[in-house]
Amino acid sequence: MLVYIALGANLGDAALALGDAEKALAGLPGTSLLDRSSVYKTAPLGIEMPASERACLPADSVAFHPDYFNAVVSLTTSLTAPELLKHLQRIETDAGRQRPFPNAPRTLDLDLLLYGSATIDSTSLTVPHPRMWQRAFVLVPLAEIAPERVSIEQLEAVAHQAIWRVGAL
Ligand code: ADP
Ligand code: MG
Repeated sequence: MLVYIALGANLGDAALALGDAEKALAGLPGTSLLDRSSVYKTAPLGIEMPASERACLPADSVAFHPDYFNAVVSLTTSLTAPELLKHLQRIETDAGRQRPFPNAPRTLDLDLLLYGSATIDSTSLTVPHPRMWQRAFVLVPLAEIAPERVSIEQLEAVAHQAIWRVGAL
């Protein structure tokens, strides 16, 4: 099965976290890495931090939500989609991921974007990823390695979101 996975990180050495995650993905059972996009940088979106957490922040709280680094990789895998999701969550945990509140900064986020042409809608897994079409940091790297999977209209819909290509993964 041909699958696309979005990688994101914005805490610690984010570029290093993406590189390590790519290696972990390439080493999954029955899986090989096909292609990787460039690394892109974006400002954080949609942060909803509880007031209780905000109160603990230093005055310069920008440091708490550094820019995101994102990339997309393609894999071929014989894992099922639920098996793959479990591996993604384990790789996130191994990278030190904690979930203090929704959209909190993270050392590593791995989202399953596309699993072949499958449509999946279970309690723990929705594919295609439900928010991918609103996110330049997903669509721009995805279009780089799979232009046939992203339309011009879909790219135009996120063209107002600032995103910078920063280099190779
Ligand atoms: P987000 O990626 O939205 O910031 P999380 O990484 O914490 O949030 O994931 C929240 C939940 O999203 C996970 O528990 C997982 O079961 C669910 N989920 C649903 N569909 C997907 C998908 N396609 N890829 C990754 N996680 C998914
Ligand atoms: Mg996620």
